[in-house]
Parts: sequence; C-alpha cells; structure tokens
Amino acid sequence: MFDSNLHIKIVTRFILTFFLAVLIFPQISNAQNKEVVAEKGDGIYRLLTRHGMSVSENMETFVKLNMDKLGKENSLIVGKKYKLPSTPVKTEKLSPAKATGKTVRYEIFGKEYENVEITSSELKGATYYLMAGHGGPDPGAVGKYNGKQVCEDEYAYDMTIRLARKLIKEGAAVYMITRDKNDGIRDESILKVDHDEVCYPNLKIPLNQTRRLKQRTDAVNKLHSNNRKGFSRMIALHVDSRPVGENIDVFFYHDKRSNTGEKAAKTLQKTFQDKYNQHQPGRGYNGTVSSRSLYVVRNTNPVAVYIELGNINHKRDIQRFILKDNRQAVANWLTEGMITDFKTNK
Ligand SMILES: [Zn+2]
Repeated sequence: MFDSNLHIKIVTRFILTFFLAVLIFPQISNAQNKEVVAEKGDGIYRLLTRHGMSVSENMETFVKLNMDKLGKENSLIVGKKYKLPSTPVKTEKLSPAKATGKTVRYEIFGKEYENVEITSSELKGATYYLMAGHGGPDPGAVGKYNGKQVCEDEYAYDMTIRLARKLIKEGAAVYMITRDKNDGIRDESILKVDHDEVCYPNLKIPLNQTRRLKQRTDAVNKLHSNNRKGFSRMIALHVDSRPVGENIDVFFYHDKRSNTGEKAAKTLQKTFQDKYNQHQPGRGYNGTVSSRSLYVVRNTNPVAVYIELGNINHKRDIQRFILKDNRQAVANWLTEGMITDFKTNK
C-alpha cells in the first residue's frame, strides 16, 4: 500500500527545502525548474492544472523536460518527480502577486533571476511605481573605478530592479517605470553602460531634462489613475547626492505638502539607521529626511519618496555600489522599511 502520510511528509519536506533555498540562495533555485510529484490519477493535463499552469501553453515544454520519465502515450508514473516548465512570461507590467508559493516569470529580471517565487503576502494590496534615476540618453553622474567608467543610471537601475523583485516576493504589485529590456539584475562589479532604457511602457526617453521628467511622471500618474484607492508609493532611486560634508550617506526626500510622504521617508531612514547600527556599529550614520522641491516628487500623484543612495563620484561610495551584495542589501533594507511603511502609514 502507498503510505500517504509518508508521502505528505516527503512533499512537505521538499516544499520547505525549496522555500528555504529560495530565501537563502535565490540565484541557485531560480536557475532550476520546480519539480512536483505525480499523484494517483495524474496525467499531464491534471498535473499542470493543479499547479495553476495553462495546459495549451505548457504541454510541449513539459513533455520535452520530462521525456525520460514518461510512460506509455506520455502518461505519468505515480510517485515520480516531474519538472514544471517555467511559468509564462510577464513583460509589460509586474502584475499583482498571485497566491503565496506561486512562481511567476518576469523577463525583465534577466535569465538568472527571472523566476520569482512569491514567498509572503506582507505587501499584498500595495502598489509601487519604481523610478530608477536617469537612463536612456542620460547617464546621470559619471565616475571612475579602476580606470573604468561607471554611470549612475546603471547602478540606480540595478538597485531599483533588485528592489522590484524583492517587493514582488513579498506580494506587492510593482511597475518598473525606467526599464531596460536586456540588462536584468546584474551581479558584475562594473555595470556596462548602455543607452537603451525606455520609459514605461516602452517610450523612448528624451534627452531634454524637463521632457524626460515629465514623461516618467505622466507614466506614473496614468498608471495611478486606475488605482487611486489602493496603497501606493512612487520611489525614485539616485546615486548622485551632493552633500557638503565628508561623510556621505543615504538621503530621503519627500514633498513638503505631504505628511504621509514625510512619515514614509522617516520610516525608510529609520530602517537604514538600524541596519547600519546592526552591521557597522560605530560607523555613524548621517542619512537625513527633508523636503525638497524635486520635479518627480512634486508632480507624481502617489505618495513619493526620492532616495539619494550616495554618490557615484565619491570613492568610498563607488566601492559600496561595486559589490552586488551591497546593492542587494540596499534593496532588502528598503523592502523592510517599505513593509513597515505599508503597515503603519495608510
Ligand atoms: Zn541622479
């Protein structure tokens, strides 16, 4: 007899292991296809349907992936593990999360990171419009590292898209306003400079600053007009702060008319302060929150926070952003702050 308790235990352990693997080593598990066990009565149709996958879209790939494990006429063998095809591609928008535990594929994150498992519903109901600074014909601030050119827009983009992925994992709906079709999340130190970023959904970015800022502001407001009632934030990330002192930290700006914006900025700043104290005690942290008249903050309709993460021209800051782990830490810390903001600042 088939021991169904044991079966459940094995499946549970498998799911747990997978869940932990995703949390700790997202890059490793994302490169693999999820495996599922065939149950009594399962055919390909039933197995795919049970896992929320369209049969017509996935049948062919499923057969190819599992060729060596199929029975007569492509039947499934009970108890055997089968690979599921990666979920269908989402390109235009990063849609609201499906149920926790589901995996959604977003090409914009690049090959290594495109499969995103929704691991929690902490941000269910929140919508984020993420605006990486500059892009297209405008590289933003330009610095040098080991004789190589480093541009603000590439580093801002990498941290923004890491943030996008992290927010989706927590159940949020996310729109990348500045978009790059082929960069994805990049782990290299020196991020190659290109000029093919577009503005949501697929608009050529003008060089003229006023037109450029208006274009992305319009994109946010248009999307926001369909979602006025829900919780939403516009988050802009830059790496070209110009502080007076020696020590450069993270600066958070909000619209002076927005109390909610101020509270959101303070929540994010507090999260960074706590993280610095935890990871680099004694370093001292000079990040501030202030109001500033910035076009995209003034003119976008959702509550907005504009973040200067440092300066790509500053030697110490470059060293900070060159490391992929640091770029990921920025995304993780912001996500943590944004969860607090979502829960306490509605
Ligand atoms: Zn900038």
